[in-house]
Amino acid sequence: MTEPARVLVVEDNVMNLELAVDLLKLKGYDVLTAKTGPEALEISDRERLDLILMDVQLPGMDGLAVTKKLKENPKTRNIPVVALTAHAMKGDEERILRHGCSGYISKPINTREFPKAVERFIEQTRKG
Ligand code: MN
Repeated sequence: MTEPARVLVVEDNVMNLELAVDLLKLKGYDVLTAKTGPEALEISDRERLDLILMDVQLPGMDGLAVTKKLKENPKTRNIPVVALTAHAMKGDEERILRHGCSGYISKPINTREFPKAVERFIEQTRKG
């Protein structure tokens, strides 16, 4: 058995955060959480992570600015970051990818699709 994947969920909305955490724990993932960008940077620098789910709209430092910082740090640059966004239009997708995200998942969180989407990103990661 391989170890469960470790996923950091960065989300300032408590209801979204709890929903994401519940769905990921049901899948058997090891889940960590952060509600702000600085908290996410601190945890990412300290913990071994397989994936980061990053809310784009965070108070203060937004999720794309946090992602940019993660990609500038040699210790965290290889952790895939997937944006969580309520506004995934064409221009937004380009902006998300330009900031170093591997992709995005649209909000509101769909309880059936969300765990499948996360699994696909983790599988991509593990293939290298
Ligand atoms: Mn938010």
